[in-house]
Amino acid sequence: MSELNNGNPVLIIGGGHSGVSAALEITEAVDKKVCIVEKKPYLGGRVLQMYKYFPKLCPPFCGFEINTKRIKSSPSDNIKFYVSSVVEEISKEKAGTGYTVKIRQKPQYINDNCTICGECVKECPENRPNDFNYGMDTTKAIYLPNISTFPLKYTVDEEYCKFSSCKKCEDACKYNAIDLNAKESVFELKVSDIIFATGWKPYNLEKLENLGYGKFKNVITNVMMERLAAETGPTNGRILRPSDGKEVNDVAFIQCAGSRNENHLPYCSAVCCMASLKQALYLREKNPSSSPTIFYIDLRTPGRYENFLNKANGDENIKFNKGIVGKISEDRSTGDLMLDVEDMLSGKKIKFRAEMVVLAGGMYPNIKDDLSNIKIGGDIKIDIDENGFIFNEDFDAGIFSAGVAKFPLDVYMSGQSATSAALSVIQRNVKL
Ligand code: SF4
Ligand code: SF4
Repeated sequence: MSELNNGNPVLIIGGGHSGVSAALEITEAVDKKVCIVEKKPYLGGRVLQMYKYFPKLCPPFCGFEINTKRIKSSPSDNIKFYVSSVVEEISKEKAGTGYTVKIRQKPQYINDNCTICGECVKECPENRPNDFNYGMDTTKAIYLPNISTFPLKYTVDEEYCKFSSCKKCEDACKYNAIDLNAKESVFELKVSDIIFATGWKPYNLEKLENLGYGKFKNVITNVMMERLAAETGPTNGRILRPSDGKEVNDVAFIQCAGSRNENHLPYCSAVCCMASLKQALYLREKNPSSSPTIFYIDLRTPGRYENFLNKANGDENIKFNKGIVGKISEDRSTGDLMLDVEDMLSGKKIKFRAEMVVLAGGMYPNIKDDLSNIKIGGDIKIDIDENGFIFNEDFDAGIFSAGVAKFPLDVYMSGQSATSAALSVIQRNVKL
């Protein structure tokens, strides 16, 4: 029989792949409760925005559906989750047995009566940029965040809803699922341990002014490319360029956009080489006459991923150029992009024309910004390194991290780090 050191739940900050994995691993192994706090209105995180992910190139909704079934079949109260919520304060319990955390949850305008019938959307007059598709299309102010949304219900974007002058969605809903007068709630929880699974955001590539992102429509990012390739994305899975909806053939992928650069992200973001190889193959599969070119400094494909590089290398339409792209300009008459490249093998400067450019942007750890919004008791140490990743996990204090809060990781490695954090929590809390 196991004996709990502390009956309070484990707080998991972040309900993405790492946070959900850690929650399931803890609750399925021992009699310990967890509480997930997620700032988006749904669980699942950035993995849901991928078309396919490594190592097996599965669509994300398959794996996530298994996880939502596991959450639903978990005994009641074992996994609590608060979406659209943030942690505002963390303080130490006086007895030294854990933490008190203050959580703020945005108003829950839609309740569990929602049948996702979609009648409210037909009436809503307001549009918002669709953040799930990186702003490449719009939704109504009341919307279903994605096809795998869990909890499965619509949500309202407060920034775009015209609450005071419009209640059309409320009137249209036959299920009494909408309450536009809902209020935010602030509450405290006592927890035994904390796992930071705060994930990442794409580095802001507008800072790389020479590469034209934000200035030229046909310069996009690798995360946008995932949404273009996805059947649930803004183009229903057709890889079309933003300026004119044309099917693209000549696409340039530019590696290390921001990463390994002292002025931006000094570290390697770990996944972008693999992402561009994967996306070059998406393009070949979807546009058979296409010929992607990958501009790289080094191609990093560790371990078994070397096989994937060999697969891309075996396609004679996929070209590799060891070269640095110094500048991108636009041919206004066609929307094509002109790349000035320093070819590292020949030492020559070359020009390259592309119909679309995909920047392999790096991973920026969310924890760097999140920590500045959390009031942390003076006797609690959560140290981040110069790049913003957590480095002082503390077994005795019960502070752990998982996924990209630690350092750049792919989905598979994030899962492993979640297992590691779960095991640490179990070892710390349960006497076997
Ligand atoms: Fe349907 Fe109401 Fe849910 Fe909108 S909120 S999808 S109208 S049940
Ligand atoms: Fe749309 Fe807001 Fe009007 Fe509802 S109240 S229909 S969400 S604008």
